Amino acid sequence: MSDILSLANSERRDASPPFANGTHGDVILRSCDDVHFHVSKQILSIVSPVFADMFSLSPPADAAAADEVVDGLPVVRMSEDAATLDLLLRWCYPIQHPPLATLEDTRRMISVTQKFGVDAFVDAIEAALEAHVVKDPVGVLEIAITTSLEKTARSAARAALRIPLSSLASSASDSLPGKSLAILIRYHLSCGTAAANAIAKRNFFIALPMLLSQNINEFFCMTCRSLDPAVPIPGQIPVWWAPRQLWHFLYKAAQALLLHPHQDAINLVRLEWCSQCNGGIATQRAVSMSTFVSILEREVNCEIEKVPIPNFI
Ligand SMILES: [Zn+2]
Repeated sequence: MSDILSLANSERRDASPPFANGTHGDVILRSCDDVHFHVSKQILSIVSPVFADMFSLSPPADAAAADEVVDGLPVVRMSEDAATLDLLLRWCYPIQHPPLATLEDTRRMISVTQKFGVDAFVDAIEAALEAHVVKDPVGVLEIAITTSLEKTARSAARAALRIPLSSLASSASDSLPGKSLAILIRYHLSCGTAAANAIAKRNFFIALPMLLSQNINEFFCMTCRSLDPAVPIPGQIPVWWAPRQLWHFLYKAAQALLLHPHQDAINLVRLEWCSQCNGGIATQRAVSMSTFVSILEREVNCEIEKVPIPNFI
């Protein structure tokens, strides 16, 4: 609060410029924590129909709302605290808008602009909320649901896939209403199934040196070369050969994706190559594996994209 407020004296606190005493203004808004904001009725009336109505009542119909005069100016008691008022007013005034750096600032701003009917910043505030989606998808989802921002809610649900289901269920159960939590978990599970099914397909396989081939002779190591263990369709061509560790990797990746449909789940799967042959071909195999994982991630993301994101509002 120290950057917002200055103490004019021991009993009265003024907001920082441009809302400090003596700067300008024809009315004082007093926050619930007793900070005085000197503001222009005209500026606020242009931005907010609620402020316009408030200031058009002269004298105020509700005496308790403006029964005080300080420095010759009427005082209107507000239910918002100083931090909230400061944020709102700096966005309403023709000055540099402060960034909505935290999710809490964004939540506060959405709530107060809705209360005062300030429509001018809806897109900017929604964009600010979207900026927090990657870092805190559950927090954004909760705000989006309570403020009826459907597009942002869907974006947050998609981003929440990066959280494993076990962690998501426990963290979201504290903040989301039961119905929304159930919708989120159902969506998460559907994406998990789609991601795991993507791995079961073979249509994204390409020949990669020392990793994948349709030619058994390219795998000289008798210890690890292995035919695709997926049940083949009789007469199916082509069949794929790979080190058996790759087939294990795909199995473990599919299991992990079921409850964590995100590329992080793939990257967490450990892979140890055959000790008999890996030494001589390690670099070549590493390059092929990197390419393979990139293709696999793209395939998984593609299947997840096909899962419809549910409505939360
Ligand atoms: Zn080997």
